[in-house]
Amino acid sequence: MKNLSYTPPAKSRLAMTTALPYANGDLHIGHGSEAIQADIFARYRRLAGQEVIFVCADDCHGTAVELLAASQNKSPERVLQEVGARHRADFARAKISFDAYHSTHSPENEAIAFAFFDELKRGGHLQRKTVPQLYDEQAGRFLDDRRVRGTCPDCGRKDQYGDACECGATYDAIQLVDPVSTLTGARPQVQDAEHLFFKIEAFAAEIRAWLASGAVQKEVRAKLLEWLDEGLRDWCITRNGPYFGIPVPGEPGLFFYVWLDAPIGYLSTLQHYLQEKQSNKNWADIWSDENTETRHFIGKDIINFHGLFWPALLRGAHVPLPDRLHAHGFVTVGGHKMSKSRGNSVTLAQLLDQLDADALRYAIAARMGDGITDFNIDAEGVAEKVNSDLVGKIANIASRLRPIIAMSDNLLSDSLPDSDLFDQALVLAGEALACFESVNTAAAVRSIVSLADLTNEYVDREAPWTVDDPDQRRAICTQALAQFRLIAALMQPICPGLAGRCLAVFGLSKVGWDELAIPPTGQKITIPPRLFDRIDAAALSCLGEIQSGKETVQ
Ligand SMILES: [Zn+2]
Repeated sequence: MKNLSYTPPAKSRLAMTTALPYANGDLHIGHGSEAIQADIFARYRRLAGQEVIFVCADDCHGTAVELLAASQNKSPERVLQEVGARHRADFARAKISFDAYHSTHSPENEAIAFAFFDELKRGGHLQRKTVPQLYDEQAGRFLDDRRVRGTCPDCGRKDQYGDACECGATYDAIQLVDPVSTLTGARPQVQDAEHLFFKIEAFAAEIRAWLASGAVQKEVRAKLLEWLDEGLRDWCITRNGPYFGIPVPGEPGLFFYVWLDAPIGYLSTLQHYLQEKQSNKNWADIWSDENTETRHFIGKDIINFHGLFWPALLRGAHVPLPDRLHAHGFVTVGGHKMSKSRGNSVTLAQLLDQLDADALRYAIAARMGDGITDFNIDAEGVAEKVNSDLVGKIANIASRLRPIIAMSDNLLSDSLPDSDLFDQALVLAGEALACFESVNTAAAVRSIVSLADLTNEYVDREAPWTVDDPDQRRAICTQALAQFRLIAALMQPICPGLAGRCLAVFGLSKVGWDELAIPPTGQKITIPPRLFDRIDAAALSCLGEIQSGKETVQ
């Protein structure tokens, strides 16, 4: 018998993150897809024997949380508690195996933000500049982008925010035509304000070297190099108070811009995790350790922050850059772009009310490749894929053999009758593992389904129900069930529930990749009557409603 082709990860530890969901609303299908993609990777690496620390947090600061709190007549802290509890619950229902889920509104985050700020100051990377800004005299405060509306200077659309228009144009709030304060309805005045700017261009060479090391996907690198070639403008890292955020030390009235302390939340959540574990290590011991591999999973809309600003911040604070930044495309439903502002969105909770978590995870995994292209799901496609693959192909192998192996006391043979076929199965298993490694879950699903097809074809061909010789009948079942065990093990990262039920057939609770190739010969098995239930497309109304909507991808 051949060996499985598989190379375990080089480093003993993995610290990984998903992008921090903003704390002003429920998780939607986009958050769900990213978390599922990352969780599959985390589970795949744990089964490779790696110590995985998978963390995420709520992104809590900035105007939107403050506005939400005001609209609900609550304190921002109260809103953060409520939203945070819902985020945790929804991720848990989707079986996302975070090792810690924290908040950027935390003492850990403030402490690390202060430490970063000190390093930037000491390194001479900050510059003070005076910038003209909109000031509401009635309210007695500067207006940020969310608190001013006006006419787009580009296309003339009315009632647009202070930073960007629906037409796609971005601009400074002072460029708005006929600006109006959303606080008082007054026309704001232009007034000078002092701010601190981070000189990012100084880190361009280090960022280029990092990109050349293969830290990001090819198409992401191309986009980042485009921006680097244009030159990196100094980045304003402060906002005027009152602002819901972290006050800048020694700068009365100034707060850190939310995008400064948000990515620091990755590190402070790692810190929180270590504190909860009562470890004597701190975040830097883990993050900077040569035995730790570091990875971020993000959406393609935030590659500028994670591919330029964040690396510059890290290097400004003498912290090593992440080994990998993995970006994904956007999910569409029936070809419709998801947009909360158009009311065209489906929450993760709605999906999980109508769809088993394993089924959702499988449907998403089957659609997400390793690139940044958008991917589509719809009710019919989800039901078809789940029913055809999980029920009709994978669970079916065990179900169809159940009465036959029962005639043989549910006891498997001592050896496999067709070791060449098992070698073929191992080749497909090795392919699936390589796909997990390259974060191509769609390709991993294809390899696993091919393995199921190979096995069902074998059962069809050998037709054990027509075989009279009990030893031969038992041997055929053993061959097919050995391959079924491979499939069950490979499904562990994608569908933990289904995989658990399938592995329980062999009395196993999990199978690491170093045990993957061992066939389950000479043992008793127990096949339950049902392993997975079919789903009905008509029951997925939360997707169906969007599919029948009017907004379509242009
Ligand atoms: Zn416009």
